Amino acid sequence: MKPQVEIYDTTLRDGSQGEGINFSVADKLRIAEKLDAFGVHYIEGGWPGSNPKDIEFFAQAKKRKFKNAKLAAFGSTRKKGVPVEQDDQVRLLIEAGTPVVTIYGKTSMLHVKEVLRCTPEENLAMIGDTVKYLKDHSKFVIYDAEHAFDGYKLNAEYALDTWRAAENAGADFVVLCDTNGGCLPAEVAAITKTALGKLNCKLGIHTHDDIGLGVANALAALETGAVHVQGTINGYGERTGNCNLTSVIPCVALKLKKTSVPVKSLVKLKELSGFVDEVANLRHNPRLPWVGSAAFAHKGGAHVNAVQKLASSYEHIDPSLVGNARNVLISDLAGRSNIVIKAQELGFKLTNDTPELKAILNRVKELENQGYEFEAAEGSLALLIGKTLKHRESPFRVETYHVSMRRDVKESVCEATVKVRVKNETHQTVAEGDGPVNALDGALRLALVKFFPKLKNVFLTDYKVRILSEGITPALREIRNKSADLLERQIANVKLERKAGTASKTRVLIESSDGKREWGTVGVSENIIEASLQALVGSMEFALMKKT
Ligand SMILES: [Zn+2]
Repeated sequence: MKPQVEIYDTTLRDGSQGEGINFSVADKLRIAEKLDAFGVHYIEGGWPGSNPKDIEFFAQAKKRKFKNAKLAAFGSTRKKGVPVEQDDQVRLLIEAGTPVVTIYGKTSMLHVKEVLRCTPEENLAMIGDTVKYLKDHSKFVIYDAEHAFDGYKLNAEYALDTWRAAENAGADFVVLCDTNGGCLPAEVAAITKTALGKLNCKLGIHTHDDIGLGVANALAALETGAVHVQGTINGYGERTGNCNLTSVIPCVALKLKKTSVPVKSLVKLKELSGFVDEVANLRHNPRLPWVGSAAFAHKGGAHVNAVQKLASSYEHIDPSLVGNARNVLISDLAGRSNIVIKAQELGFKLTNDTPELKAILNRVKELENQGYEFEAAEGSLALLIGKTLKHRESPFRVETYHVSMRRDVKESVCEATVKVRVKNETHQTVAEGDGPVNALDGALRLALVKFFPKLKNVFLTDYKVRILSEGITPALREIRNKSADLLERQIANVKLERKAGTASKTRVLIESSDGKREWGTVGVSENIIEASLQALVGSMEFALMKKT
């Protein structure tokens, strides 16, 4: 059945413009696969005309099969004065090999005159030519009308002409964009309504959050009759960010009561949000609506009491509908269902009734308190589950290792020695690298390939380090902030002060690939090399793990 509202994710393009966000190709592939599994309808992978990394992403993505989502390449209309078939940027859009191409063009007379510096007619031709050219190349074409609302307010007739130019050339969607993010919901609704009356093609909405109304504006358009919404996970994006899909998706399903992503995906929303944060190496924002860890946490005594008596008294929905919980640490329930969902995704036959579930949950909690994070480290989670559920042993053990660094006038070189044991046999190897982790990875791989030749195909695609704040465990912090028992709170506070003085921990997230799939593994230690080794060992173990 066709959804009433299509979700178009642009985390990998518009979202990657956000401050502090820098996705590698491997990151992008992992996020794309996650979004596809979640069930969004379109994934905008990047702008091939703007950087080589995005070209590489599309080359890699071409080899994958996406089950639910259509991949979109993003670009602009042809340049002024250049025939469309000679425009390099447009050629790269076609070469990206995606079923969908999204191009943006100018709506606003101000931008046509002052930024493009061309005639109004030339701008219309640029829009029409490009859309038609892409249609002639059998693309599904989405036309993003930049500054749609601001442009309309300035010169309504011309704005409509630009949208008609896209429609007449065969655009499948015209998407009205609040590019500067400063519009109000009533304006968005009114202009969307006018556009619906004047155009025949389907309309979409793309908003930014500059005045905190990105989601509100998107919903205003959807309530008026737009059927396609563009945004990013966690609201990543330039300045204050894009329209946040982790809010739009539940709003569409639970508030507007329209169909969009598969119903069963909604409970995975919090997990998706956490996954993208981890891959982006950003701290989770506890105040995010719907998916934030504080979104349903009640602190005030009266609220806590009332919620205990009647959940709906201080909650707008049941938090479990989006995979969240009233109080993340106190409620085992959320942790339980999240682990079950993840385990099933990883191919384990784990249900709420599996006897080992309790042991798995306890282990995960224990490790999370030490600073581990499994949201983007599915490899490590799979090993943990496999070891508990199937009593799997590690196929190898690192007996000793040594890393050193030397520097001469020209360069610095790191050298690592690793000794591994497989059953009764040991093997020791040495490798050099331009950094300690690189050297360690080389030596470990070299040692293991002798026993497990298939590891030759495994390579490290990304490496992320996070210093864990203050060396504080979340559980202690939770008790200090939330416990009803004053004495308990004070004890927690003393413990926290003591911990704050000790060395902070480092979490390392490693991403690996064997060309067919990507996976993440995690390590935590006060020593960065040790944390890296844990994650590297996990990566190799996961590669050797038999399909469950
Ligand atoms: Zn945008």
